[in-house]
Amino acid sequence: MTAHYRFIAPRLDDPRLLGDRRYSMLIGGASVPALSGETITRESPAHPGHIVSTIPKGSRADAERAIAAARAAFDSGPWPRMTGAERSRIMYRIGESIEANIEELATIEALEVGKAISQARGEMGYSAELWRYAAGQARGLEGETYNDLGTNALGLVLREAAGVVGIITPWNFPLLIGSERIPWAIGAGCTVVIKPSEFTSGSTIRMAELAREAGLPDGVLNVITGYGADVGQIFAEHPDVDAVNFTGSQRVGRVIGSLAGQNIKRVGLELGGKGPQVVFADADLDAAAAKISGGAFHCSGQACIAGSRLIVADSIADKLLEKVEALAAKIVTGDPLNDASNVGALIHHAHFEKVVGYVEEGKADGATIYSGGTRLGEAGAFFAPTIFTGVKPEMSIARDEIFGPVLSTFRFSDPEEAIALANDTPFGLSACVWTNNLSTGLQAIRRIKAGRTWINGMGDGTPQMPIGGYKQSGIGRELGRHGFDEYSELKNIHVTLTDLR
Ligand code: NDP
Repeated sequence: MTAHYRFIAPRLDDPRLLGDRRYSMLIGGASVPALSGETITRESPAHPGHIVSTIPKGSRADAERAIAAARAAFDSGPWPRMTGAERSRIMYRIGESIEANIEELATIEALEVGKAISQARGEMGYSAELWRYAAGQARGLEGETYNDLGTNALGLVLREAAGVVGIITPWNFPLLIGSERIPWAIGAGCTVVIKPSEFTSGSTIRMAELAREAGLPDGVLNVITGYGADVGQIFAEHPDVDAVNFTGSQRVGRVIGSLAGQNIKRVGLELGGKGPQVVFADADLDAAAAKISGGAFHCSGQACIAGSRLIVADSIADKLLEKVEALAAKIVTGDPLNDASNVGALIHHAHFEKVVGYVEEGKADGATIYSGGTRLGEAGAFFAPTIFTGVKPEMSIARDEIFGPVLSTFRFSDPEEAIALANDTPFGLSACVWTNNLSTGLQAIRRIKAGRTWINGMGDGTPQMPIGGYKQSGIGRELGRHGFDEYSELKNIHVTLTDLR
């Protein structure tokens, strides 16, 4: 079946597209260029030929300056010495400032990432929520006491800030992923150097500038821009960085993880996924279809939690596929700056070619294109929502993180087969199960190895609940109360007491 996909051609005379936005790095509270004066330009993936931003091309020497600023702010600045309440007030103001600047931040991401501006606005609003939640929690980060060690002893567990944190973020959700980490790190009393992707640095730089305006002391949040190998990897190597946090590909995650291991440094990794969406025969098919389509095609599938494997009971598979396809056909792909677009472009041409390569490989391996499989528009990195059927577990479209709008479908006839298929992946980031039987839902989710899961849902997020990966999807947890542990050291004080005199 081939659906007719809806496409809005990007408008080349949109005033928001015109004019190259020029950014500086933020080091020790000062907006600075690279020491070399060199820059990197970013072309909109939706509007070929249009430069939308210019950022400093930082070098190792720039990164060292940023690390030194964060170190000084941690060792002798006010931030780690403030009360939780004082830190909380500033963090809350940063959340409010993000909220007040949603339109500007969303426009930057629509231009640089190529994502639909309506989607970007939602992410900016959620990022503000993340800051506000972490601000609230930062007022009351507790330790523990043990009063059962005998009459002459008392045990105290102090929570202390881990120190300087280096954060490396990917291009798909720059402000959102930054906001899942920075508030937890600084809320714990740490200072931060962040390196966003060179494709999409604008919103992170603007967030740091807004944070400075909201009263965050100099050096608490530093932004270094440039290529990962030049200015990101150093976080895992430099002795003045106490913890490194990386979100991105497994390939780079292995490099960061092994360097952090060699240097005995705390490390958090959030790597890719190949999320299963398991649908049992008794599920509400309309509700499931809507979220399956959203889970696979949101942000053109460029999400680590994307539900890119549909595992569906044989008896309802045909009916469900029809519904998913009908909804996919309603997705409006195209101009990221148009409010009517649901989905924008892929991140760049090379990634577009990678997605095309996987689709071709899937066909060559014997899978069937149920719908999609083609580019949309004449220029720009737009690809149609694509559904494969007849997928075998050994095919690359079943195993690899494609990071494009490609859904691979598998059928099962008994629940054990469904669980085995869901777990047949080296990844373990996300999973969802659809059923009207709560026992089936819980029993299935308990058996699926993934850190972020849904029963009768997909993609919903809330700051209270921890996120992170099982297996090769990563190490560590962000968000919720547990998120502060990533950026805290726990100190045990065993106090010996004399008798009361
Ligand atoms: P990368 O892992 O290469 O990039 C992610 C971040 O790491 C970027 O900021 C990048 O910087 C930085 N980086 C790159 N090399 C190094 C290094 N040696 N040391 C430190 N930092 C480094 O992802 P890609 O952009 O290449 O995407 C490739 C694939 O990765 C995607 O197709 C997808 O499968 C997966 N991915 C997963 C994401 C997730 O959310 N889990 C997000 C993005 C990608 P720079 O680009 O500036 O060099």
